[in-house]
Amino acid sequence: MARDDLAEYHAKRDFDRTPEPRGRRRRPAQRSSFVVHLHDARRLHYDVRLESGGVLKSWAVPKGPSTDPRDKRLAVRTEDHPLDYADFEGVIPKGDYGAGPVIVWDAGTYRNLTEHDGRPTSFHDGVERGHVKAWFDGVKLHGAYAFTRIRGQGNGATWLMVKMRDEAADPDHQPVVEQPASVQSGRTIDEMAASAS
Ligand code: MN
Repeated sequence: MARDDLAEYHAKRDFDRTPEPRGRRRRPAQRSSFVVHLHDARRLHYDVRLESGGVLKSWAVPKGPSTDPRDKRLAVRTEDHPLDYADFEGVIPKGDYGAGPVIVWDAGTYRNLTEHDGRPTSFHDGVERGHVKAWFDGVKLHGAYAFTRIRGQGNGATWLMVKMRDEAADPDHQPVVEQPASVQSGRTIDEMAASAS
């Protein structure tokens, strides 16, 4: 089922040019990882990626994750990425797919909370059905988030990413504004961009 999950990722990139990882599928780890990249391509956006089935299921979230449960953040499903993309930071060269700087804005592990008809179900099946829930234990992001597909199918489908009401919900806090730097290198996206020139 997941064998060709990375076909689109590979087709879009020339690995002789880009510093991004070529990526190999691996057995899923006991703890599932997540990463949120900040990526300044044609438009600045956040790429929210959760490990599932040996790849990173991915959504591009223009405004980034909110800690306010009233915010419904647009999230466009993008192609699965390899697990070793999780700690990628760098500058994708001009003329290449997704050209521009990338930093690891947040990272950590998550617990799958997805249910279907009141029973726990895998994150992978939830993505196929169009609804998943995950509890994040990151540096910046904490607590449960729901992802719900509202339009389309597969890559390019429109989803909403919403903070659920729990002790980590906080309408007065905006991590995308207050905590802009990489949790991996401490660099901002502008510092990463400048590192390539
Ligand atoms: Mn991106």
